[in-house]
Amino acid sequence: MGTHAQIEWLNMLGYTPESWNPLTGCTPISAGCEHCWAKAMHERFNGTGSFKPGTVYPHRFQEPLTWRKPRMVAVCLMGDLFHAAVRLGDILKVFETMWSPQCRSHIFCILTKRPALALQFVELYAGRYLGNPFFRNIWFGVTVENQETCGRIDTLLQIPAAVRFVSFEPLLGPIILTPERTKIDWALIGGESGREARSMGLGWARILIDALKRVKVPIFVKQLGQRPHQFREPGEGYHARCLKHPRGADPSEWPADLRIREWPKQKG
Ligand code: SF4
Repeated sequence: MGTHAQIEWLNMLGYTPESWNPLTGCTPISAGCEHCWAKAMHERFNGTGSFKPGTVYPHRFQEPLTWRKPRMVAVCLMGDLFHAAVRLGDILKVFETMWSPQCRSHIFCILTKRPALALQFVELYAGRYLGNPFFRNIWFGVTVENQETCGRIDTLLQIPAAVRFVSFEPLLGPIILTPERTKIDWALIGGESGREARSMGLGWARILIDALKRVKVPIFVKQLGQRPHQFREPGEGYHARCLKHPRGADPSEWPADLRIREWPKQKG
């Protein structure tokens, strides 16, 4: 489980950041998985080979029912809830908790790289709940790390969630969004961290920011990563490689135009 200090994007005004992991484990699916942070963290504490998809912690299913103050919750951040190996019954248990009246003051953020399975689940079981105003606290997101994985946004936009967000992290190349793909409610942007982190071009972040700002999508720049790079421009003294923060997550070290930390407006 990550420390809450590392999930600044859950620190929305009025909410306590939280991560909730009733299930852990996953297997790589695309380039963004190459240095999987969740696997590294999990295996550090639980041993090599412990990151099996669909691993269940039954005592955690009902944890959120005991939380009193509103929390903004990353759901199954230590894996992928929609990995094919996760049992349907276990996904339903996660949703049963999120749908319960005791949890209406919390916001649950589900982030996946497998939106096709998420959509299938929602169509079969959850659609009628997600469209219901009482269940506007379940947000769906996909990770998109490069142009090749942008199709995940198309699938995400078919899920009738209150908020549909995209995590462009680790951003591995420039991404050009079609107008249709900017119809999202929130965007997170971040570079890769860790010993072997791949470099994020600050220009890549700026391309996304320009496209999303134009259509007023709230943006949260999470971190510039371990090795951000940029081409120097005339008159620009900033040198990204001098960042002191190990994840590049201290906005005071960033160029002013990248210091954007917004959240979606709460709907109805
Ligand atoms: S989808 Fe996420 S949790 Fe699964 S291997 Fe890739 S980075 Fe890790």
